[in-house]
Amino acid sequence: MGTPLRVVVFGAAGRVGQTMVEAVQATADMELVAGVDQVGPADDFPWFDNAATAISETRPDVAIDFTVADAVAENAPMAIAAGVSPVIGTTGMSPDQVDGIRAAAEREGVGAFIAPNFAIGAVLMMAMAQLAAPHLDHVEVIELHHNQKIDAPSGTAAHTADLISQARDGNSAIDAPTERFTLPGVRGGVNHGVRVHSVRLPGLVAHQEVIFGALGQTLTIRHDSTSRESFVPGVLMAARRVRDLAGLVIGLEHLLFEERDDA
Ligand code: NAP
Repeated sequence: MGTPLRVVVFGAAGRVGQTMVEAVQATADMELVAGVDQVGPADDFPWFDNAATAISETRPDVAIDFTVADAVAENAPMAIAAGVSPVIGTTGMSPDQVDGIRAAAEREGVGAFIAPNFAIGAVLMMAMAQLAAPHLDHVEVIELHHNQKIDAPSGTAAHTADLISQARDGNSAIDAPTERFTLPGVRGGVNHGVRVHSVRLPGLVAHQEVIFGALGQTLTIRHDSTSRESFVPGVLMAARRVRDLAGLVIGLEHLLFEERDDA
């Protein structure tokens, strides 16, 4: 085995960040060189409350980020400028914030990776939705998450709607002609022409249903992340490959399906 990949986790005290810390510590070809969060510290690895200081003092290869959108928009370009490749799971970034990361990665010639969902089953759910989209005209997405999630819709739901729209050459799903609303917002929001409904409840982790409808039939594609460990294999895969990417790549499907093509 070669030199271990040096990994920093941004958001190391967060729900997903803690899972990533444990996963990196348990992975033989990786070394957790630092955790960064606003609370802490941990006692078994270096801890920082500032991402720039963590990078300059520990010189990581890769920064795994599960924080908040505004923190990513600041920290990812800073990491890239220092030659550190970000692997970003944080959702809720604006298109401008994503463009800022893309521009930094291209300018510096450093690989960067964002996935709205690192669960391999969720990527397959999205791929199956894309497969069905040209054949079944009506579709709605229901995403269900724990009640501490601060953004809505989920990045996965937005990405699913985008993929469905792309699979239809940009044509929207056919909408129901509801004429009378007795409750505002009851039909959800529209993302890339697809209706999306966000459910937030304690007891949930991350779940999504894509329901297609056609004359006399429905097709439901459902994925459930029942624990945050579901995100670990995808994040570790991206961490191992991100430095070889040309610029910014968005979506685990690019790594997952390319890997199979290589096999
Ligand atoms: P969380 O528990 O709130 O964790 C976020 C952590 O980041 C918190 O500890 C927060 O500290 C910390 N933080 C905020 N600003 C920071 C900064 N500038 N530098 C370092 N740390 C900072 O949230 P979560 O449930 O783990 O989710 C985190 C993000 O990942 C969300 O956007 C969520 O949607 C996303 N997510 C993505 C996937 C995926 O597969 N792509 C899966 C699950 C979750 P404070 O609490 O003190 O602010």
